[in-house]
Amino acid sequence: MSATRKAYRAALLHSLADPAEVGVEASYEYFEDGLLVIDQGKISAIGHASELLPGLDADIEVVHYQDALITPGFIDTHIHFPQTGMIGSYGEQLLDWLNTYTFPCERQFEDKAHADKVAKLFLKELLRNGTTSALVFGSVHPASVNALFEEAERLDLRLIAGKVMMDRNAPDYLTDTAESGYADSKALIQRWHGKGRLHYAVTPRFAPTSTPQQLALAGQLLKEFPDLYLHTHLSENLKEIEWVKALFPERSGYLDVYDHFELLGERSVFAHAVHLCDAECQRLADTGSAVAFCPTSNLFLGSGLFNLPQAEQHKVKVGLGTDVGAGTSFSLLYTLNEAYKVMQLQGARLSPFKSLYLATLGGARALNLEERIGTLQPGSDADFIVLDYKATPLLDYRLQQSGSIEETLFVLTTLGDDRTIRETFAAGRSVHQR
Ligand SMILES: [Zn+2]
Repeated sequence: MSATRKAYRAALLHSLADPAEVGVEASYEYFEDGLLVIDQGKISAIGHASELLPGLDADIEVVHYQDALITPGFIDTHIHFPQTGMIGSYGEQLLDWLNTYTFPCERQFEDKAHADKVAKLFLKELLRNGTTSALVFGSVHPASVNALFEEAERLDLRLIAGKVMMDRNAPDYLTDTAESGYADSKALIQRWHGKGRLHYAVTPRFAPTSTPQQLALAGQLLKEFPDLYLHTHLSENLKEIEWVKALFPERSGYLDVYDHFELLGERSVFAHAVHLCDAECQRLADTGSAVAFCPTSNLFLGSGLFNLPQAEQHKVKVGLGTDVGAGTSFSLLYTLNEAYKVMQLQGARLSPFKSLYLATLGGARALNLEERIGTLQPGSDADFIVLDYKATPLLDYRLQQSGSIEETLFVLTTLGDDRTIRETFAAGRSVHQR
């Protein structure tokens, strides 16, 4: 048997493009009885089993899944690892929620042993939910990012993370300074950025908790190192937006604060972006910046409804985020269920293939990684998942009534959760089995 080559036979589905740009039919590829061939952690072939099997080398083992669908691994474009222990915290909107729950919880991550424990649990939870890549907030402490990257490196995940930069409007126990935030970020970049499949994101929490000096130094880091990410929050909550206006009266709006410090670009991801004007959408699109749509979080904190049609109209790159711990699930299937409802409340539709796109290729594009992850195209990293059509009695019964892959996909995003993920592969290696 070949050690590095293996083939997986099942129904296969992946996105080829954004349905908003090419129409639904041209946006995906589906093989009812497909074969996915893996070689040295990468996908080497995809096609109909009947066409690929006769030419397959005899030493390649073929694993056959019945009643299952293989898709690319899901991509979470916004999540907070130190907030794992405070998911489901009651009763507040953004600014009070941060002070009441978030800051005391994040304080614990100055302790490396605590960070190590939560990093293991956090990454295991992502993989249990079929998420193979994520853009992750650490806490203000470098130890939090070291813990997360150490565990991600052990699992060989493609992961992006960064230490929070926060030098004002937060408790003393949780603030850095403009200089120490810069120096600590720089040390983490030198240690981790580009190591294995890891990438670093410069991570100011949001405009209110950084001084102009700190935002300027964040922009300087982006210039000093190639291919760094920028990860922050934007226009989530109306009170937050008013606060930003008061803190930066010389700027024309929230996005303009980040723009002024040269934080926009093709590796910049802004979480939420619930309340944007058309000019801000256009500026995001013109700079290649992306936004993370976080429906469970936006509903949970009462922040508002993300306007996906507006983003599509301006061709803004959009990924899907759980935003745990304000988000209420690690599951991107569950998150899509809520995303559908957010669209319904605005009189809009979220098609099953757009949902698939948002959770996979759309996320990869938001992270500027579409050449590596988000599809099952040959040459991509072998990050993929096996969805179980019989995960629960109800799902099994409901899918027996399904007349098409479109209907099956919609039911999976409506009823699906962690139980639906039968197996998760990262770089061709099985990293979770239910
Ligand atoms: Zn967030």
